[in-house]
Amino acid sequence: MPTGIKEDLDPFDIAQKQLDKAAKVINLDKQALEILREPMQILQVRLPVKMDNGETEVFTGFRVHYNNARGPTKGGIRFHPEESLSTVKALSAWMTWKTAIVGIPLGGAKGGIICDPKKMSMGELERLSRAYVRSIGEFIGPEIDVPAPDVYTTPQIMAWMMDEYENIVRKSAPGVITGKPLELGGSLGRGDATARGGLFVLREGAKKVGLDLSKATVAIQGFGNAGQFAVKLVKEMFGSKVVAVSDTKGGIYAKDGIDYQKLLDHKKKTGTVENFPGSKNITNEELLELGVDVLIPAAIENQITRSNADKIKAKIVLELANGPTTPEADEILYKKKILLLPDFLSNSGGVTVSYFEWTQNISGFYWTEEEVYSRLDQKLTESAHAVLDASEKYKVDPRTAAYTISIKRVADAMKLRGWY
Ligand code: GLU
Repeated sequence: MPTGIKEDLDPFDIAQKQLDKAAKVINLDKQALEILREPMQILQVRLPVKMDNGETEVFTGFRVHYNNARGPTKGGIRFHPEESLSTVKALSAWMTWKTAIVGIPLGGAKGGIICDPKKMSMGELERLSRAYVRSIGEFIGPEIDVPAPDVYTTPQIMAWMMDEYENIVRKSAPGVITGKPLELGGSLGRGDATARGGLFVLREGAKKVGLDLSKATVAIQGFGNAGQFAVKLVKEMFGSKVVAVSDTKGGIYAKDGIDYQKLLDHKKKTGTVENFPGSKNITNEELLELGVDVLIPAAIENQITRSNADKIKAKIVLELANGPTTPEADEILYKKKILLLPDFLSNSGGVTVSYFEWTQNISGFYWTEEEVYSRLDQKLTESAHAVLDASEKYKVDPRTAAYTISIKRVADAMKLRGWY
């Protein structure tokens, strides 16, 4: 481990480092690697939006198509004040490995707009969402590139975006975007799919290390799309005890467990999980270092780094966020024999049910919730085993193992297409 040199936290540098490491393990063809190291297409747009005070604000947005060898590109859109091209590029790469690891016929993409949605009205958000789709209209489509929700974007935002797209193409096109409300062609089971899928992966990981989840304690960082449902489902599905939860403002700890519904009500009322009755306030950093059995980072990137990896005490880390662990931290955790279930496997439930939604939209035939859950379980269980097996076979950490599977699948598709 290089000491003295500052750890490189640039998301795209990290994505390339992870790829290079896995490419070496399977001796990936040099030309394939050259294609896979960069996105195929990048679009940057300027979006003038009329704000409620009558003034125009100009926002910057991105949409990156990383690789479409395996099918139309797929990936969410983030609304975030610190969004950057580097982050969107990294996230689009991770989407490529994500669709490949679960074996769905889609490529990888990502979008983002630099904005602070917490400070915007519904009207401003709607105008921004529509402006984005007008700008990137030709870059997306059910057979081209299919966006979805991500950090601070919601089913309502997907609905506006679909509506704007249909106005442009003058026809019904629900398959242009996923994560829509049920009334507009959304899929049953999409809302909690990321958490549910992750918990199927956790179940398989726990078997591997001999952890009884019904007696396990869990800490969850993040209370958004992924984290919130993880708090609810880990208890419902396995009877595990959630002892710590956090959001951007801070966290809480309660040794006897945290009740999901009460916490949700508290958050709705006060705007934060902090000061939850019967718990003590902790920081996000303290949450990561708690002596729990399972740690679930479900917020944003670069949370477990060289500076704190050594202090992680959990037996299993289930990454529901994208990119929460840096490459140096990966090595530290692997040496400590902590089982890290990597992001693009663990949080692939979201895009898997997005794929189910897209197929339902295209075929016009809708599934029951049970069908969605059981197909999700099957896909994630299979993928988790493939990753754990590859980790043993190559004697590498599970993230690198997952990469070896995904990059081979994408490289094979590119080879068959004659790209190299
Ligand atoms: N934004 C989610 C992710 O990072 C879901 C993407 C999708 O459904 O296309 O996996």
